[in-house]
This record gives sequence, structure tokens and C-alpha cells, in this order.
Amino acid sequence: MNEPLSPAAARERAPGSLPVLVTGGAGFLGSHLCEELLRRGHFVLCLDNLLTGSLGNVEHLLGNERFRFLRHDVTEPLSLRVSAIYNLACAASPPQYQRDPLHTIKTSVLGALNLLALAQENDAPIFHASTSEIYGDPAVHPQTEAYWGHANSWGPRACYDEGKRCAETLFYEHIRQNGVDARLARIFNTYGPRMSPADGRVVSNFVVQALTNADITLYGDGSQTRSFCFVSDLVEGFLRLMALDRAPAGPVNLGNPMEITVGELAERVVAMTGSRARIVYRPLPQDDPRQRCPDITQAGSLLGWRPTVTLDEGLALTIRHFDARLSAPDLLMAAE
Ligand code: UDP
Repeated sequence: MNEPLSPAAARERAPGSLPVLVTGGAGFLGSHLCEELLRRGHFVLCLDNLLTGSLGNVEHLLGNERFRFLRHDVTEPLSLRVSAIYNLACAASPPQYQRDPLHTIKTSVLGALNLLALAQENDAPIFHASTSEIYGDPAVHPQTEAYWGHANSWGPRACYDEGKRCAETLFYEHIRQNGVDARLARIFNTYGPRMSPADGRVVSNFVVQALTNADITLYGDGSQTRSFCFVSDLVEGFLRLMALDRAPAGPVNLGNPMEITVGELAERVVAMTGSRARIVYRPLPQDDPRQRCPDITQAGSLLGWRPTVTLDEGLALTIRHFDARLSAPDLLMAAE
């Protein structure tokens, strides 16, 4: 378990009557964040354009009197009264963010500008979901926040990587020029219940393929690595970052440093599901990072945070979730 932050370091924002805004709130991460904020007594305004998020993810919250849903695209300006902002709006899986690359860039850049304006208007603290993609195909391993990255500015991942890099710049210029209270997390690969089965990410792909005995699609030779963080651990990191009395000077990595090859992940999912599926090899997508693993020293010292859910525990929960969805196909459809 993570130890609570000391009272000097944290001012857990007391729930007020103004809502906490969660953009991308109907997405995988956003819906878990909305749930946790509600559990802690906050009013929550969940905003989503429903391009990759889904009402199915927040359907169970709609009856809560402290929860509201607003359909809106963050590329358009917005004027609302809010107490705090979590900006999670952006397609995040490579197939999804590459579907409309220009809209992905606009989501990061115009979304940042619009939400920074809203933070200023409300004098509200703002959390921004940045990403390990800032590091591109990293030449430094594991990645510390001090590493500037190795990203291709015009390849197929650039719409996401460069959009998110520009958003970081916009946030830090607003901190310096306008005194905005912004906190940025660089999020590494995250998994868990409510991932979209259609978004092409490795954990959801492998679990659904294994459960349906379909071919497990391993890209490349499977020797590339990732480090997978369970969603509840990540959300705890978000809340701790926002609870800090003062914003850290720079972005903070949040992820699980337990690194695994994608080939090992495939074998583990097959073993845990008892699947008859076979592993088939597919071409490695262009610019697919060879390795990725967070250095979370800063998250440890600033937030007293570290992941607590092991990969086996998290995969078991994820497999159980997808198993239930597959046996109720309307649930599967509702969340796509
Ligand atoms: N991957 C794979 N099979 C799949 C989907 C993804 O082997 O069906 C690989 C992908 O090439 C990458 C890793 O798994 O090396 C993680 O991919 P994902 O799209 O989940 O996230 P990201 O590349 O953004 O880390």
C-alpha cells in the first residue's frame, strides 16, 4: 500500500460544490478517475467527445447526483465554473490516434490552450496527462524525466508524440507567464478493466484474442519491452500529484517499472486464460519503441507513490472483466 502523504505535503482538496472537470472522462482512464473522485465526495463533470470514449464506461455513474456528463470536444473553447481540471482528453492507442492525425494534434494543442484558459478563468489547478511517448524510441533506459527523448517528428506516431510534446511546452509557458497551477504526469502503458477491445492496444488485443481462441498477433519478434501499470495505481498517482501543496517543477513519470517483453506478455496471457490460441507474428509498426520503462524515483520522493498491483493480479482482473464482457456481447458493443 502507498503511505498517505504527510499533511504538510498534501492538501487533499476538500470536496466543494463546484465540480472537478475530467476531460476524456468517458475514456478508459477518465472513467476510473471519475469513479474515484466521486468515491472521495467530489462533484464531477465528465466531458468527452465520445470519439474513443464511450457512454458505456460511465453509464453506472449517471444516476449519481454528484455526476454530470457533457458532450464536448476540447478543440472548441469552453466556459464553465469548476474547482479543478484533469485533462485526459486524447485518443491514446496508436490505431486510434492515427485514424485522424490532424484531429489528434488539435486535441493536444488546442485542447491544452482551451483548458489552460479555463484554468486561468477559474483560478483552478489543472492536471495534464502527458505521456511516455514524449521519449519516443528512447536511447536512455530506463527513462528519467530529465531525458529529452528521441521522437520522429514526421512519422506515423508524430501526431501523438509531437502534439503531446507541444502541449507540455504550452503548459510550462503558461506556468511561467501566467502563474497557472499545472501538474503534468508522463503516463506509461496502463491496462485494466474498461480498456476498449477495439482500440488495438496490446493487453486488450491479447486478452480478447486468448479468450476467443483467435490468433494472438505478436508484432515484430516480440522482443520489444513495455512496463504495464494497473489503472487503479495510476489513478492514485494522479490524485497524489493534485494533492501536493505545490506543483513540482517539471513533469513526473507515472508507470510500473516492472519491464516485460511483449512476447513474454503473450505467453503469460495464454497461460493465464488456458487458451488454445496460437501466437502469430505480424510486422512491427513503424517507429514502434524498442524498449520502455519508467524511472519512478521522482514519483516516489514527491508523492510517496509506487505501483502496488502486480502484473499477475492486474491481468487476472482484466481477464475476468473481458470474460464477462464477452459473455454479454451487448456490453462489449456498448463500450466500443
Ligand atoms: N503489439 C503487439 N500486438 C498487438 C498490439 C500491440 O505485439 O496486437 C505491440 C506493439 O507493437 C508494441 C507493444 O505491443 O510494441 C505495445 O503496443 P500498444 O499499442 O499497446 O502501446 P504503445 O506502442 O503505445 O506502447
